[in-house]
Amino acid sequence: MYLERLILRQEGEEILQDVKQVLTKTATINNPRQQFNNWLKSKEGQAWKQKEFKKRNGICAYCGEKMREQDIDVHHVQPISQYGHSANTISNYRLLHPSCNSKIQTQVVDLLF
Ligand SMILES: [Zn+2]
Repeated sequence: MYLERLILRQEGEEILQDVKQVLTKTATINNPRQQFNNWLKSKEGQAWKQKEFKKRNGICAYCGEKMREQDIDVHHVQPISQYGHSANTISNYRLLHPSCNSKIQTQVVDLLF
């Protein structure tokens, strides 16, 4: 009897661990920041970044200075923190120096384009 209860308890704990794992995974998948990072790492995201860099002649949308292609951040005009998933659309992205991006962070500021 005691042993049966012990086994049941162990099984219950294993199921709980599985459920926790699924919940964590789901939360990650649904996280708009995570979705953006995944897109940016993808072929599509990288291709967009290259194209956008050429289109803007490598100019930072915040300070107007030239950027190095290997050293750029993708900034959200409307921040993810406020707009969630709807901030994840190409028309909401601008290329910035990482230093400019970290200066403005989640503030909504006037950009050059
Ligand atoms: Zn800049």
